[in-house]
Amino acid sequence: MEQDRKRVALVSGGSRGIGRAVVKRLAADGHEVSFCYRSDEQAASSLEKELAGLGTRVMARKVDVASPDSVREWVAETQETLGTVDVAVTAAGITRDNPLLMMTDEQWKDVLAVNLDGVYHVCRSVVFEMMKSRSGSLVLISSVAGVYGHATQSNYAATKAGIIGFAKSLAKEVGRYGIRSNVVAPGFIETDMTSVLNDKIRDEMLKSIPLNRFGDAGEVADLVSFLASERAAYITGSVFQIDGGITI
Ligand code: NAP
Repeated sequence: MEQDRKRVALVSGGSRGIGRAVVKRLAADGHEVSFCYRSDEQAASSLEKELAGLGTRVMARKVDVASPDSVREWVAETQETLGTVDVAVTAAGITRDNPLLMMTDEQWKDVLAVNLDGVYHVCRSVVFEMMKSRSGSLVLISSVAGVYGHATQSNYAATKAGIIGFAKSLAKEVGRYGIRSNVVAPGFIETDMTSVLNDKIRDEMLKSIPLNRFGDAGEVADLVSFLASERAAYITGSVFQIDGGITI
């Protein structure tokens, strides 16, 4: 029966870092989850195995979010296998940092293709079915860099700011169909993305974080879980910073 159907969540970039924590949390919340990754098959299959005993279906697919056709196929397969997507979380993201004068066209284009086009491809692919079912929650992972900027990250910050404008526009466009669109903007979170920072930079960053530590991916996943759920039924078009206070 339809009312017994489990909620279905789609997570881009779900094999590592924040996306991985989100997949685990949404599966623990009782969602069936379809996540994608770009290249690290080992990380993806270890997550599938880890969640196999939960009693909820979890499927991993190798999909480059920069490719509209691949995303469309992934979403179609997810809907055929698990049902209409109720929650979409876009966590796939990359950095290619460089001061603007050193930035290559490739670094600029790669970051835009994954971080911004990728979000468009995912949302474009899920929103029609959400409109038909007159409900849905989109949770887009931006960054405090998109709100405040960050030196050497003009490409990255442009995409993360773009996500905010995109999410707010969608919130206005599809709210009447019961679809919510919100943004989570993390500060420094312990993942592979931040593990490349050297000790000197980490120490400098820590001095500017009132809570005096980097965040945990699970803490971001808790916020995503809330926004995905009916507990956040009256929240849309909002940007939630989760950053230990680095921006105050
Ligand atoms: P991460 O540890 O580097 O993980 C990135 C994930 O995205 C991996 O699962 C990766 O899969 C996937 N991915 C990358 N490019 C992809 C593509 N083209 N198509 C599909 N999947 C792709 O990153 P993270 O730190 O968890 O960051 C997750 C999100 O949070 C990103 O959007 C990032 O910008 C944002 N964020 C992170 C921080 C932070 O401090 N960590 C702060 C603010 C915002 P593969 O391993 O297979 O490549």
